[in-house]
Amino acid sequence: MVSRGKHKVARLKGLGVKYGATVRKRYGTIYRLLKKKRRCPKCGSVKFDRQVLGIWYCSKCNYKVAAGTYDVNFERAKSKY
Ligand SMILES: [Zn+2]
Repeated sequence: MVSRGKHKVARLKGLGVKYGATVRKRYGTIYRLLKKKRRCPKCGSVKFDRQVLGIWYCSKCNYKVAAGTYDVNFERAKSKY
């Protein structure tokens, strides 16, 4: 049997064949960053997720924090403001 080799990253659904390769690649990078599993800095739960743009929320301990649009980077946020 011929081994085909595994895809390194899973293909994204949603954009299909539209918008061109560059835009789809960019979208994929951002989307994966956004949907990455994160731990809540307060209780350590993985229920930590973005609620709306810039608002990150833990549904377990109700911890809410303002951070980046697509990623939580507390170090960068602290140094910036
Ligand atoms: Zn929490």
